[in-house]
Amino acid sequence: MPELPEVETIKNELAPHIIGHTVTGVTLFWQGIVRQPSVEEFCSRLIGQKITGVERRGKYLIFGLTSGEALISHLKMTGSLLLKPPDRFIRAIIHLDGRTEIYFRDPRKLGVMWLVTDKNTVVDKLGPEPLEAGFTPQVLAQRLSKRTAPIKALLCDQSFVAGIGNMYADEALFSAGIHPLRSGKSLSPEEIERLHRAIRQVLSAAIGNKGASVDTYFRPGGEIGTAHFQFRVAHRGGEPCPVCGTHLQRIPIRNRGSYFCPKCQPLK
Ligand SMILES: [Zn+2]
Repeated sequence: MPELPEVETIKNELAPHIIGHTVTGVTLFWQGIVRQPSVEEFCSRLIGQKITGVERRGKYLIFGLTSGEALISHLKMTGSLLLKPPDRFIRAIIHLDGRTEIYFRDPRKLGVMWLVTDKNTVVDKLGPEPLEAGFTPQVLAQRLSKRTAPIKALLCDQSFVAGIGNMYADEALFSAGIHPLRSGKSLSPEEIERLHRAIRQVLSAAIGNKGASVDTYFRPGGEIGTAHFQFRVAHRGGEPCPVCGTHLQRIPIRNRGSYFCPKCQPLK
């Protein structure tokens, strides 16, 4: 699933091609992609509007429009936004002036779009942005203080912190030397400092590598990201730990496979 680094890359690479362009048409091959309002209203209200900006909040992309409304998309498990037509799995096309098109490719048809007057109706439940200045070790400590859930589950909870999913939670916990099943409130101040630093390093490095193409993620131009080549534990079950050589383990936590090193990340 695209996580913060993938969605940030899509935002950065789409922006110069679409900002200032006007929507001239909408083609829907899968009507279920429109969550709100009705399909008819979605198309009629969108057409004629100019895209004034693109921002990311968590794993959501928010396209600003001249009316003050926002077009919001969530790519869910398998979505991509492409500037060239993909071979298959096109669910929607947003046509812009200047012969520019945004293709919503989504093999599993889970991705969604909203057209709303207030973006907060969609994104207001999200936790803090982990790369913003306001997300300090103190903020992380305070949010962890009464939480009994496994730290892995908390990191993937979008209301706890926005944008992190399975891959980057595993990578950050490995970097910090913290077992994914530790409860949130059991982390020491030093561990919280390490985790905070690890989250930022892992996400920033992945943005630098334009995201991770472990399955269906593509950059808007159709290229893959290379962040997964730097993964040390994510999706590497059974391989040796890059630090100590112990076989990496995979355990299910809240129905998601979690990869970790039992030696470098002891369950205290
Ligand atoms: Zn190890």
